[in-house]
Amino acid sequence: MTGSGDCLSEKCGIFGVYAPDEDVARLTFFGIYSLQHRGQESAGIAATDGTRIRIESGMGLVSQAFDEQRLAALPGRSAIGHTRYSTTGSTLACNTQPLLVSGIHGEFALAHNGNVVNSNELKAALGLEDFPFETTTDSEVLAKILSDGPDLDLMDRFAYMMRRANGAYSLAVLTREAIFGVRDPLGIRPLCIGKLPTREGSRGGWVIASETCALDHLGAEVIREVEPGEVVRIDSDGITSFFPLGTNERSDADEKLCLFEFIYFARPDSVISGSLLHEVRRRMGGRLAEEHPADVDIVIGVPDSATPAAIGYAEASGIPYVEALVKNRYVGRTFIKPDQRLRERDVELKLNPLKNVLDGKRVLVVDDSIVRGTTTPRVVRMLREAGAIEVHMRISAPPITHPCPYGTDMATRGELIAAQNLLKDEMSVDVDAIREHVGADSLRYISLEGASWATKRGEGHCSGCFTGIYPSEGIPLQLDKFELEDGPDLDSTPAILPLIRS
Ligand code: SF4
Repeated sequence: MTGSGDCLSEKCGIFGVYAPDEDVARLTFFGIYSLQHRGQESAGIAATDGTRIRIESGMGLVSQAFDEQRLAALPGRSAIGHTRYSTTGSTLACNTQPLLVSGIHGEFALAHNGNVVNSNELKAALGLEDFPFETTTDSEVLAKILSDGPDLDLMDRFAYMMRRANGAYSLAVLTREAIFGVRDPLGIRPLCIGKLPTREGSRGGWVIASETCALDHLGAEVIREVEPGEVVRIDSDGITSFFPLGTNERSDADEKLCLFEFIYFARPDSVISGSLLHEVRRRMGGRLAEEHPADVDIVIGVPDSATPAAIGYAEASGIPYVEALVKNRYVGRTFIKPDQRLRERDVELKLNPLKNVLDGKRVLVVDDSIVRGTTTPRVVRMLREAGAIEVHMRISAPPITHPCPYGTDMATRGELIAAQNLLKDEMSVDVDAIREHVGADSLRYISLEGASWATKRGEGHCSGCFTGIYPSEGIPLQLDKFELEDGPDLDSTPAILPLIRS
């Protein structure tokens, strides 16, 4: 991914901690700080001392939303946190998470990673068509089921939600008594559990997080992943596991974890299914080299996300890997720019070529995807202007031909360059037409089989955006991110401009 506007927009990061002897708000701050790559539009923390739930949130990066004063306003023994990229609903102050809902079954704070595609049906099932929802997100509908659902027992309400919600949801839920970690029955988004060490004056505690990198930063030991369809309750008795829909024998193939988590979304220092993602991406690069060799002088990667795959390509091919593009690390990951108008100058702002490295060289450049095809041509041009005599592109994701309904903002199918260049069979992509568009001497994508092989998970992932075959039924043909926005009065809630750091 070029680190430009031509990329997939991330979902959200969630975190939770139960640690009565610790400053849980501060731990949550650093937890979501390490999940910043999963969402940069807003950040929030909810904490409880057992008597009430308090929430602080703000727009922008975690470090912009919080200061010492706001953290001090969140005393407690447990907390949850959230970094948001909008997948349903606009970038509005009212849509920051965690959400706090109060209903007949009490008060709940909820942080959601993923996207539920049948929110309006869920509202109708609950008789809530005319309910004055306070946000425009699918997450509030899930929270409302927990606070007002038809069953008395909370696990029954989780079961009610799991039976009806179609889509992806990894949740961190906070009540006055406990925190809960929840993964949808397909396990589309990741969620893991860690243990904080005991130390003098502290009995330690438990954490849940979207990715293991958040646990590493806190010195927490990774215990395991939350299973698809599992609810874990963490309180003074430790961890209790529930499967509200029942436990069946399951295999990896039943789990449908997003393949793009392996290719791009999750941090390379995170571990999913026992594999360090840096290693997975190196394997993808190695597989690319086997599938699509090239006669070139050097291999380079588009930093930072494609670097492991470029190293893997170089290792497998025996061609030297060199750094030839320097990234300005203080320009935010550009998927935070939600419209085309702001997608234009990102490449030049973000990347600078090393001319003496590139001059006179036949260059193979590895990137991790081409989405709209708007910025890859600018990367190719940049390399040629820096002296490269040939530019060959290798992509460590298969062509993206379909949108993602599960919490990734890929825009519409019509905007995807691979979808615009399908061959007559509607199954395969005219790669040469895309090559011509991007201006490369050659262009090749890893096969879906090759990308799957690199994860070492067999069939256990979603690959809907590469195939159009989604793991859940009833996916609408047109995905409307703003479908819930006939609710609150949006005119009274200012949309913010996307954040561009320089
Ligand atoms: S459709 Fe693509 S991006 Fe979305 S969950 Fe599936 S693999 Fe991930």
